[in-house]
Amino acid sequence: NSVWAKVPLGPRDAILGVTEAFKADKNPKKINLGVGAYRDDKGKPYVLPSVQKAEQQIAKAGHDKEYLPITGLPEFVNAAIKLAYGEDSKPLKEGRIAATQTISGTGALRIGLDFMARFFPHKSIYLPDKTWANHAAIVKDCGLEVKHYKYYDPETVGVAFEGFKADVKAAPNGSAFLLHAAAFNPLGTDLTKEQWVELCQIFKEKNHFAFFDMAYQGFASGIFEDDAFPVRHFVEQGFPIALCQSFAKNMGLYGERVGAFSLVCADKEEKARVDSQLKILIRPMYSNPPVHGARLAAQILNSPELYKDWKVEVKGMADRIISMREALYDLLQNKYKTPGDWSHVKKQIGMFSYTGLKPEQVDALATHASIYLTRDGRISMAALNSSNLEYFAENVSKAVK
Ligand code: PMP
Repeated sequence: NSVWAKVPLGPRDAILGVTEAFKADKNPKKINLGVGAYRDDKGKPYVLPSVQKAEQQIAKAGHDKEYLPITGLPEFVNAAIKLAYGEDSKPLKEGRIAATQTISGTGALRIGLDFMARFFPHKSIYLPDKTWANHAAIVKDCGLEVKHYKYYDPETVGVAFEGFKADVKAAPNGSAFLLHAAAFNPLGTDLTKEQWVELCQIFKEKNHFAFFDMAYQGFASGIFEDDAFPVRHFVEQGFPIALCQSFAKNMGLYGERVGAFSLVCADKEEKARVDSQLKILIRPMYSNPPVHGARLAAQILNSPELYKDWKVEVKGMADRIISMREALYDLLQNKYKTPGDWSHVKKQIGMFSYTGLKPEQVDALATHASIYLTRDGRISMAALNSSNLEYFAENVSKAVK
């Protein structure tokens, strides 16, 4: 007769379930390719040297532990939006971007989509037909309806751009679309600059609203400006975009939960109204955000010296992943003569590769080789390194043959 007797058992989280199975495995050669967290070439979590330096500087400064304002640490928020929009951004210079610190990228999505649920004219948002699983969950929890647009082309394991455009054209005028700014998760395939420009034109004709999720700025190309291209292009074209940012991946601040949400407004007066509503939304949810991670990020973003170091470190992470892609392609295609065309592994970008492996093949990898990944065939490229790459390629080849 317990009060909770009727609570049903929910399904396990697809990604965290992989980690559990991995932990239980005793094989010393086991590999966990499930979770999207960067590892160095020794397979170890990486605390960026710029972050270590920022930690020391902050410790020395001896800050108190007082509450932050509802929308967070201003030095952090201002620097975060500068990184995303660029210092020459017109709305930034004109002081008409409403922005708040958030509980990393997930929190940014939650605040942003809650804001949409309250104030956007349509009570729905279009998501790509393959996307980070949490997107649909957040959209639904915010009381919005999930709609889908075509993105994935199984033939090429790439982007179905024609289908994407057709869905954008077919949607009712003024619809909201969630767009991955860079390093699309799970596919690892972004639009080209030319395709973004073309898409933006259609958005204009249709008066659609672009809601950007930029969880990986710097992780795709290693260059912040390049990864922010779609965001900056839409803003230059005069769109009032929404933007979610995360510093989990590019600063390696996963557990610190550092992020930002922003909306480009028409003018300062509109920004003041939007700001007031962001506060009304956040205050009863968690009152104000945690301070430590935001201080770290602010220290790096606002110190020319640390910023310079950080840029090099981000490029280093992106380049290591790119080198793993090339090596993996070479092993699968040339050394092990794995059936099929594996060039997508090399072409994809960012943290993940969508391998195209079938669920049965994923299961076989776990059973026979202690290699763990989600059943959709997505692997975290950052979990591969010079010690486990050959073992991985050999076993993928076996699983496919
Ligand atoms: N968006 C996408 C597309 C992601 O892949 C992730 C992380 N996996 C996030 C947002 C949010 O991550 P976090 O809350 O850790 O910043």
